[in-house]
Amino acid sequence: MSEPQTYKNLIGGEWVASVTGQTFESTNPADTREVVGVFQQSNAEDIDAAVQAAKSAYESWRLTPAPKRGEILFKAAELLRQRKEQAARDMTREMGKVITEARGDVQEAIDMLYFIAGEGRRLYGQTTPSEMPNKFQMSVRVPLGVCGLITPWNFPMAIPSWKILPALILGNTVVIKPAEDAPISTYNFVQCLVDAGLPPGVINIVTGYGPEAGEPLVRHPDVKVVSFTGSTAVGQHITKVAAETMKHVSLEMGGKNGIIVMDDADLDLVVEGVVWGAFGTTGQRCTASSRLIAHRSVADELGRKLAAKAESITIGSGLDEGVTMGPSINADQYKIVCDYVEVGKQEGATVVTGGERLTDGNYQYGFFHQPTIFGDVKASMRIAQEEIFGPVTAIIPVDSLDEAIEVANGVKYGLSSSIYTQDVNQAFRAMRDLDTGIVYVNAPTIGAEIHLPFGGTKATGNGHREGGTQALDVFCEWKSIYVDFSGGLQRAQIDNAE
Ligand code: NAD
Repeated sequence: MSEPQTYKNLIGGEWVASVTGQTFESTNPADTREVVGVFQQSNAEDIDAAVQAAKSAYESWRLTPAPKRGEILFKAAELLRQRKEQAARDMTREMGKVITEARGDVQEAIDMLYFIAGEGRRLYGQTTPSEMPNKFQMSVRVPLGVCGLITPWNFPMAIPSWKILPALILGNTVVIKPAEDAPISTYNFVQCLVDAGLPPGVINIVTGYGPEAGEPLVRHPDVKVVSFTGSTAVGQHITKVAAETMKHVSLEMGGKNGIIVMDDADLDLVVEGVVWGAFGTTGQRCTASSRLIAHRSVADELGRKLAAKAESITIGSGLDEGVTMGPSINADQYKIVCDYVEVGKQEGATVVTGGERLTDGNYQYGFFHQPTIFGDVKASMRIAQEEIFGPVTAIIPVDSLDEAIEVANGVKYGLSSSIYTQDVNQAFRAMRDLDTGIVYVNAPTIGAEIHLPFGGTKATGNGHREGGTQALDVFCEWKSIYVDFSGGLQRAQIDNAE
């Protein structure tokens, strides 16, 4: 194994060490003997330097024409396309998802670059007629200033791109604190922006742990908006801290996503979808299909078919093209998965397949667990209510569509949901009544495309969306402008009133 690279913070266009003089390592979760990178263990002083750099760069970036900003993003997209394979391999090494999925994660960032680069020539506002003669009015988007971005490890390039790009195209500048388990993908992404000609200080990276490096970004008075993706507990904490300085806060958090399987569903299609939705990214997706709400008449057959398919999953290092499921991200997350599997057994759920950790041979160096399906699960059980973030899913039998929708909505989260049915009437009822930000029909709960809004209801979010043009709303204010060219004073609601 080659010597790991040491990564420095990017502040004001310079690569600099943390003032703490301390670093931390990120290891490969498929083989923890491999250190994939060494990173700065930064603190509030580093964050302050990055925020000051972003603040200094803001005025000139704000006044750069948006189409010119977009041109830099187009160039970055071309660079990332050229670097896609290496970026995907780095991602698999740092966080374990299988290489085909890592390529997809990088592709999502490429798609986002093209999509938002095009926004440089749109950024549409509105014009409306006035109630007065000889008066013109419009509303335009204006940037906020310095944006603080805090990201998780499970989509370590896609999620930073969802935040960085809408912020930049509007004329904001950025400080990003990536997840400590997977910072390299953020570096690879930002390097493309730098090489494409982004001016110094417009983007800054500071690595470190959440409380030491993330929280000072949330507290900093010169940061105007915090965009966070991660756990609901940390998101709630961030909201409270940000309130002290009246920041805008956008949160994307946990999920407990359900697939409804009706008695007329094509079960073979369901099985394909569930295995992808539940075990893709080792179940470490906010949109993972962690509940299967199945009509009682098909639940057992579904369990049998799913077990056969799940048992054919090849587990190992994601760099091996034949592997279809990698490890959990780290020792803490692995313990959470193992503990929940025990909870499920104690709660009286049936283990349809899996249920054991893998520790033999090369598995001993990583965080591997069998894909696990529980049957006979009650909607109130903890494994049916709490986010596990691992390769575990639960079959909950129900008797009707009404009950299925009630169960699907009966959790604290509201990110994604799905229904498999051949009946268009049932599909439309589900589309209307499922209380989630995303609904799929005849597809699992994962598979979002970047040009539609992404986010969830209830404890998943706080009303904002990433993706689509809706993402722009997080990083701007609306300014309404009235131009009176009548040459006289015209009083709205008074001079034109009956
Ligand atoms: P996490 O909340 O532990 O960490 C997320 C980020 O917050 C990290 O960068 C971390 O360093 C930082 N952080 C931690 N404490 C902080 C503090 N006090 N102040 C500021 N920053 C702090 O989450 P994770 O384990 O990295 O990610 C898994 C979670 O993310 C899951 O709950 C998953 O559902 C959620 N997630 C949600 C979405 C979505 O779009 N809804 C997408 C991906 C992941």
